[in-house]
Amino acid sequence: MIKVVLKYIIVWALICSVFSCQEEKNGLLVNNLEEFDQAVANIKPGETITMANGTWKDVELQLTGIGEDGKPIKLQAETPGKVIISGQSNLSFSGEFIEISGLVFKDGYTPTSAVISFRTDVDEVANNSRVTNCVIDGFSNPERFTGDHWVLMYGKNNRFDANSLIGKVNRGVTMAVKMDTEASQENHHIIENNYFGPRPVFGSNEGETLRIGTSHFSRLNSNTIIRNNYFDRVNGEHEIISSKACGNEFTNNVFFECQGTLTMRHGTNTLVENNYFLGNGKPNTGGIRIINEYQTVRKNYLAGLTGRRFRGALVIMNGVPNSPPNRYNQVVDSYMENNIVVNCDYIQLCAGSDEERSATPVGSTFKNNLILGNTNPNPFTIYDDVSGIEFSGNRMSEGLNPPFKEGFETVPLELTKNENGLLAPSSELVDRIEFGPIKLPVTKEEVGASYYPKREIQGSFGVGNKTTVAPGTNTLLHAIESSQSGDILILKNGGEYVMTKYALVNHPLTIQSEEGEKAVILSERQSFFRIQNGGALQFKNIVFDGASSPDQSGNNVITTTYSMNQNYALVIEDCEVKDLDKNHSFDFIKPAKYTFADSVIIVNSKFTNLTGSVLTLDMEVEDIGNYNAENIKIIGSTFTDVQHEIANVYRGGTDESTFGPIMTVKDIQVSNCGHGKRNSANATWRFHGVQDLEVNNVQLTNSKGMDLFMTVGEPITKLSNITFNNSEGLKTNNEPYEAENIVVKK
Ligand code: CA
Repeated sequence: MIKVVLKYIIVWALICSVFSCQEEKNGLLVNNLEEFDQAVANIKPGETITMANGTWKDVELQLTGIGEDGKPIKLQAETPGKVIISGQSNLSFSGEFIEISGLVFKDGYTPTSAVISFRTDVDEVANNSRVTNCVIDGFSNPERFTGDHWVLMYGKNNRFDANSLIGKVNRGVTMAVKMDTEASQENHHIIENNYFGPRPVFGSNEGETLRIGTSHFSRLNSNTIIRNNYFDRVNGEHEIISSKACGNEFTNNVFFECQGTLTMRHGTNTLVENNYFLGNGKPNTGGIRIINEYQTVRKNYLAGLTGRRFRGALVIMNGVPNSPPNRYNQVVDSYMENNIVVNCDYIQLCAGSDEERSATPVGSTFKNNLILGNTNPNPFTIYDDVSGIEFSGNRMSEGLNPPFKEGFETVPLELTKNENGLLAPSSELVDRIEFGPIKLPVTKEEVGASYYPKREIQGSFGVGNKTTVAPGTNTLLHAIESSQSGDILILKNGGEYVMTKYALVNHPLTIQSEEGEKAVILSERQSFFRIQNGGALQFKNIVFDGASSPDQSGNNVITTTYSMNQNYALVIEDCEVKDLDKNHSFDFIKPAKYTFADSVIIVNSKFTNLTGSVLTLDMEVEDIGNYNAENIKIIGSTFTDVQHEIANVYRGGTDESTFGPIMTVKDIQVSNCGHGKRNSANATWRFHGVQDLEVNNVQLTNSKGMDLFMTVGEPITKLSNITFNNSEGLKTNNEPYEAENIVVKK
């Protein structure tokens, strides 16, 4: 009997010791929120909570604990990357010495204002803590204009490293350092080795990727170090990074094809050093913008950047005299030195100079910069008095015009692709400014969560399978339903394709006729095509006919779904649109409010007899600059008997955070258009707040005219070769624009 008991005790002791070993190595394994909460309640320094692999849906994880230096409290995934947190979920934590790793947030969104928060309550912040090897991918609120943040850093001495943040599409800064209580000021955070993956153009303010501080606390130190991060096409708005506190350091980061700039928006004593900005000639790619005092920008490499105005490669702003915290402080004692600028289009000094922003830079320098290239012969724009900037030792290549003689020396244009694949000036020049090797400080492969792919967030046209679709009722509809991303549906010559239901499109899709006679698409519903989240449409050689549409007002051929958060694209090529005349206000393209197109392109197409409009992109009513499309092209097309507008593009308000709309109208014939009594624009073309507009070779006959309202910053407007034949002419709000050969014939 004693033997048996002894044996039992020994076995039990053995089990316990094995178990506690296990526990020490892998932590306490928790399988659900209840077990997680229990584990948190009892957590002690040096202990680890391990979340079991699998999908954790609808969980709000809250961790409070006091770890110790060298004995942190850890929260980890059983296997890094195998714990998927989905649905309406988030994570908040507070205390001391907490380390969180290996978690993936996807297929959902946060019900609160943050996905990962370094605090559990206003007064409960995390210090000396770390989030590493985690992922937030596409975890965006489905309502595009419902704002939230993916990461909010509070407290002090925290580190956010080797994480991947990919594809935020709803409103709100992707990651922010908050300083709203004393416990979060002078915080000395480190943000390093992260992958900031693609963020598409948001089409409104609040699409920044990283913000440090806010204007309210901007005169306090944050002292955050941001280093060795890779920013990959974060295009949300013109501030990639908005530094709004003092004492931050941005070093060794890479900005790959990002539309925007690293902006020292508020705060002083910022260091920006050895960052690489690679624009590759992509539109609106920018560099570094200085506002405020004691800023140092040195030894950065900027190449192929095309952005102008606030998005130039190097920008020094004008300030507002005695500026309130939320406006623009004067640039004082700031230095732009030893930078290499290769094939960049714009360097802007005293940018933003206007009646309000009249304080020019003082005590500042622009020294020893190497500016080489052949893209824009006049890269400098001087908006105001630059006598407060000392220019010396700069080198510019032949063919580029320096803004002054003094401080600039001309050197031969000598650029060679070096062993690191980057265009480098001669070593003599590079050595002169002690720049060191021209080499990316980090690569895309070296940053982000180790286990997670750096995925693309948008599909493309024409990359899938080709399928031929027989004419008939709903054949096209069924083909769309069973299509895959990037597929091409081929319609038969002259075939008739009737749809009795909405065609719902949720991936990029091409629909085209065989070469020759166009196939005809008709629909018995209010809309032919409804683009849903992720959808995009390309039509080639197709006829759209309104003959089968219902006899009700407000039909359309293409619409979008409220509320989708992803951008869409729409291409109409070699198409014919006719007899959209069932009842009044039958439009061709009528997107839903709060939806946003990366591009809408109409090429070589013919529109006849519409009771509505061709393209309405005027859904904004708030006048805060949340417009409906970034790039719009209407080229080589004819419009006859269109009762409402041909294009109505509206970007309201005076916000300066965005680039678009960018619009080209070229080689166009308009006759007998715009006369419908419900045409509220009272014009055939309405361009309101278009930022970059080119209209060339347009003939209007017996039609309503053009309404041009130029607003926000310095919109570029070029009008040429426009004839108003027995038509109403051009109305403008008397802002400057370029015009050539505008003819009005009665
Ligand atoms: Ca902004």
